[in-house]
Amino acid sequence: MNTKYDFLIVGAGLYGAVFAHEVKKAGKTCLIIDKRDHIAGNIYTEKVEDIQVHKYGAHIFHTSNKAVWKYVNQFAEFNRYINSPIANYLGEIYNLPFNMNTFNKMWGAVTPDEAKEKIEQQRKDNYVESPQNLEGQAINLVGLDIYEKLIRGYTEKQWGRPCTEIPAFIIRRLPVRFTYDNNYFNDPYQGIPIGGYTSMVERMIEGIEVVLSTDYFAEKEKWDSMAEKVVYTGPIDAFFDYKYGVLEYRSLRFETEVLDTPNYQGNAVVNYTDSETPYTRIIEHKHFDFGTQPKTVISREYSEEWKRGDEPYYPINDNKNNELYEKYKALTEAQNKVIFGGRLAEYKYYDMDKVVEVALQRVKGILGQ
Ligand code: FAD
Ligand code: UDP
Repeated sequence: MNTKYDFLIVGAGLYGAVFAHEVKKAGKTCLIIDKRDHIAGNIYTEKVEDIQVHKYGAHIFHTSNKAVWKYVNQFAEFNRYINSPIANYLGEIYNLPFNMNTFNKMWGAVTPDEAKEKIEQQRKDNYVESPQNLEGQAINLVGLDIYEKLIRGYTEKQWGRPCTEIPAFIIRRLPVRFTYDNNYFNDPYQGIPIGGYTSMVERMIEGIEVVLSTDYFAEKEKWDSMAEKVVYTGPIDAFFDYKYGVLEYRSLRFETEVLDTPNYQGNAVVNYTDSETPYTRIIEHKHFDFGTQPKTVISREYSEEWKRGDEPYYPINDNKNNELYEKYKALTEAQNKVIFGGRLAEYKYYDMDKVVEVALQRVKGILGQ
């Protein structure tokens, strides 16, 4: 290890890896540290029974940004996976996102006009003028039947509170289509890196020193003294020792099992949309890669309350937490040596493509390109 680097990068996740790759390419030196015992942050995948298991939740790369798509394709070949989750409501199976296949199964609607008429009928009876919460927004969008069978139970399990207390914008992420198209995303580019995300990140940081199982805060002064600049991708409130309070997250717990069957559920993602089933979904990892192994690995995903010290998954971007984040952000201005980036340091629900985009922009700015 050297004693002096141009950049110390705290966090070997996607943001840290893109940043490191770019500064190295520009001739700068850098060192990456991570408190986990592996690289790749939350997109980490590991092989179990020869199947790539997405340890921190299912990750599908999708983007509308052609430059980002070209960028990641330098480090991995992507397969033809198109995310088409299905919903299991007490044994009834529906296609997602809400599309003609869903409307056909729900009401027998065959044409787009028939489906629109059905939704219109349900809307008339239950219409909410300028909905302030997810319940009103969802009923206006797809009617009461779909709300009751495919939205309410899933959403309340996922967020741990009633739909009447959840912001309306959350449901707007989901496409509603009057075509028979089960692609969950509208983006033109989509896939899963062949060989897993960990290999993709490995290629990004090839030739760069990485120190694992090392918490930056345990010896912050030592690490700071070793670099001109620090790129910090951990939680922003932790950096400032939680002086204004703790930013909240929603957490997840995965129960992963190897099953002695080649095909458990016939799809990578099955959402359990009723209220009684305690988990929100089951992931069958091999289907992300069209795997033909003799066994299979599944993960039941449970949504949980988060407390300090738990793994932070989804930031709770409500007004209270966003205001708290702004207070921390104001403190970053006095930190001339430190660059804050990524989903934890910016407290934003960034998809992977956005992380690549913002990391590339930031490096460009810093290198003066
Ligand atoms: P992270 O991956 O969190 O990396 C931060 C790293 O910093 C971690 O490795 C951490 O250990 C390290 N660190 C933190 N504090 C310290 C410290 N004090 N010292 C040393 N190291 C530290 N995006 C998609 O595009 N498609 C999807 O399908 C998708 N699915 C998702 C599913 C789930 C359940 C979740 C939670 C997210 C999903 N995402 C998805 C988003 C995706 O995970 C993120 O965009 C991406 O992982 C963010 O990368 P990052 O580098 O900012 O953060
Ligand atoms: N959603 C739902 N039923 C489903 C899938 C999603 O009601 O079967 C709603 C739910 O409110 C969720 C939102 O759509 O919070 C966004 O879903 P998405 O799959 O984008 O969430 P992710 O888990 O990927 O963050």
